[in-house]
Amino acid sequence: MANGQDIELSIVIPVLNEADNLQQLYDEICNTADGRYSYEILFIDDGSTDNSFAVLSKILQNSERVRVIRFRRNFGQTAALSAGFEHARGRIIIPLDADGQNDPADIPRLIEKLNEGYDIVSGWRRKRHDNVFTRKLPSWAANRLIAAITGVKLHDFGCTLKVYRATSLKEIRLYGEMHRFIPALASWSGEKVSELVVNHRPRTKGVAKYGLARTLKVVLDLITIKFLMSFSTKPIYIFGGLGVLSILGASLSGTAVLYQKFISTSHLSMNRNPLLVLTAMLITASIQFILMGLLAEMLVRTYHESQDRPIYVIEKIFESENKV
Ligand code: UDP
Ligand code: MG
Repeated sequence: MANGQDIELSIVIPVLNEADNLQQLYDEICNTADGRYSYEILFIDDGSTDNSFAVLSKILQNSERVRVIRFRRNFGQTAALSAGFEHARGRIIIPLDADGQNDPADIPRLIEKLNEGYDIVSGWRRKRHDNVFTRKLPSWAANRLIAAITGVKLHDFGCTLKVYRATSLKEIRLYGEMHRFIPALASWSGEKVSELVVNHRPRTKGVAKYGLARTLKVVLDLITIKFLMSFSTKPIYIFGGLGVLSILGASLSGTAVLYQKFISTSHLSMNRNPLLVLTAMLITASIQFILMGLLAEMLVRTYHESQDRPIYVIEKIFESENKV
């Protein structure tokens, strides 16, 4: 096996019960990459309960390019990808689905695009072969929403086939279903992201692992991501802002209560006025918001300072040659 320095590509494949798809996928990758790139393939067996591991062991015996990481149980596709990224040695990292829906023949085009000067090129499954109601429609809506909220203009965040420079993945930690947000996170730290239409094929063997529930998870992840991207180093701005709004609301409705009691001709009794309840609620909410903001500020400081994480990303430091 080539040593770590000169591996160009690491192909990372999360596998959950895909026994019937693996050999064909492996052959296709070899057809595309043999003689063209120095590469390695990492299969992550994410707790498969079918024959997948046996098939992987067989592939492993016949190839020095392959490594297999076996999880103790099913931890999910994002965890599998994360483990693959962590152990990859190549300069370029390419995740692929194990079910054969992504086409390895697209890899060279994606790499050409990357070499035009990008850090990430994301696959776009323009003609997607999946169930319309459980996949295509929810995914269309989710993609629009993600693009609008993160400000990263991609058509298809969910496509596993993407091409990353290994350096782009180093800083990124993944949770939940967040692998689809890597381009957004990377673009936020200044990486250049592009996309390219890729082939997408129907799943011919094995069963799809997700249903509609994934869309809900993606939307919840999106809220987290948006919060982290916009306010992770200054949470008091959002919580404090809400707190101040609540105080303003409380003052308005409190004034209205007093006005209706003492000044207006109606002389409405305060305890019959629902606005009094609103005032009390808003005062409580404002205290909660501000305290939550302060707690979040402490958490953020612990997070950054305990891990020496800077709040910025430096590209390069320039220094004058003529030192005094
Ligand atoms: N997968 C996994 N762990 C899981 C679920 C899925 O490793 O808990 C793998 C699965 O084997 C496949 C890929 O993730 O290689 C994508 O899964 P699937 O084809 O079911 O979903 P799609 O993204 O195509 O809708
Ligand atoms: Mg699939």
